[in-house]
Amino acid sequence: MRIGFIGLGHMGGPMAANLLKAGHAVTAFDLVPAALDAAKAAGATLAASPRAAAEGAEVVITMLPAAQHVKAVYLNDDGVLAGVAKGVPVVDSSTIDPATAKLIGEAAAKQGNPFADAPVSGGVVGAQAGTLTFMVGADEALFETLRPVLSGMGKNMVRCGETGTGQIAKICNNLLLGISMIGVAEAMKLGETLGIDPAKLASIVNTSTGRCWSSDTCNPYPGIVETAPASRDYAGGFGADLMLKDLGLAVDAARGAKQPVFMGALAQQLYQSMSQQGLGGLDFSGIIKLYAKNSGAQ
Ligand code: NAD
Repeated sequence: MRIGFIGLGHMGGPMAANLLKAGHAVTAFDLVPAALDAAKAAGATLAASPRAAAEGAEVVITMLPAAQHVKAVYLNDDGVLAGVAKGVPVVDSSTIDPATAKLIGEAAAKQGNPFADAPVSGGVVGAQAGTLTFMVGADEALFETLRPVLSGMGKNMVRCGETGTGQIAKICNNLLLGISMIGVAEAMKLGETLGIDPAKLASIVNTSTGRCWSSDTCNPYPGIVETAPASRDYAGGFGADLMLKDLGLAVDAARGAKQPVFMGALAQQLYQSMSQQGLGGLDFSGIIKLYAKNSGAQ
């Protein structure tokens, strides 16, 4: 299939490379020359604008930082919607607010292009390995059309409902993840301070009702899980600044809907504090550093 791909960063670069490996022809665009060089080396044809990348494509996929980039890439004069042929599906895999996803979906529908929001989980490792999970907001027919394309980049595809519901699933999951990580950090630190062996505490939690992904797979206390970022000074993993972005999306969406998110708002402030201390590049489990006596140095 001929695929137009725009946004070749940490996620989009390896996703486009996997589409090429799966036998698709990819025409790619990014603003950064180094990202274009890498795509070319992987076998992509380069385009000079989002519009040019969309021209002649049978599917267009975007993987951009945030809503303002998505709006520009779709709606500008040299954007995707100006170049894409009528009837060709367009897919945005960036993590953005559900309202912007709906807006882009409406603009696409007006000119006869089906739109899916399809944010992912699995991080850079999943993007490289082709094991991402796609949370897709699309009607059933579009979902089935996209399945073979998405399966070149991921292992699980879940249809969440109509346009915007993929983003809703993504931000609700990350709201919970951000909160649960803080809960585990708090419990581990309290246990340490009160005098229980942290490894013993973790093993109790992980066979008890407190167990969750943040406790058994990505425990924030160093040395509990060998493969967790906490055991390598919080390098790699899911950056605290990205978690802060996703919590911002959840809190903003909640405000629009007048739905209280007590814990989410507090979690947002805690990751903001981590970011303010220059720790935003660390894995988000580094939130445990806020519990140290001299915050910033555990
Ligand atoms: P990134 O910043 O590494 O990549 C984004 C790319 O988009 C960059 O190469 C940038 O040059 C390009 N870009 C920006 N504006 C553009 C424009 N107008 N035209 C063309 N290209 C443009 O970000 P990333 O880590 O790849 O994340 C992409 C999206 O995926 C984000 O929404 C992020 O929240 C989400 N996400 C990231 C992860 C992760 O672990 N990195 C995990 C899940 C979801």
